[in-house]
Amino acid sequence: MIGVIDLLLRDGKGNLVVVDHKTSKLAKSQSAVDSDLQTTAYSYLLAANRFVFPLAEVQARFDVLRKLKTPKFEQYYTRRGPDSRKRFAHLTATVLSGIENRVFLPCKGWLCADCEYGEACQNW
Ligand code: SF4
Repeated sequence: MIGVIDLLLRDGKGNLVVVDHKTSKLAKSQSAVDSDLQTTAYSYLLAANRFVFPLAEVQARFDVLRKLKTPKFEQYYTRRGPDSRKRFAHLTATVLSGIENRVFLPCKGWLCADCEYGEACQNW
């Protein structure tokens, strides 16, 4: 798996902090922040590449520029531990297995408008 983290910081205690930059019209809920898979993927990459110990928690933050009439900057904090990474590994292995077995489940959403597989998807 290959990924690029927007920003990786060290706090005053030397701990890594993953920062993801977002723009959004809506505010994020803490439950959405805590269950975000992108952050879990970054935590997984840091552990898999030995930037953090296997059982360490990884701190993460979303820096969000709210697209409002008067733009607003917000920060949301979360953490990912070994249980999250284990679940993520299981999830990605399952997705990979689905791909290898040619499983395709169309998931209509906002990405469909620009999807290069739109026609093939419609004819599937
Ligand atoms: S059009 Fe593209 S993004 Fe939308 S469901 Fe089909 S494959 Fe997925």
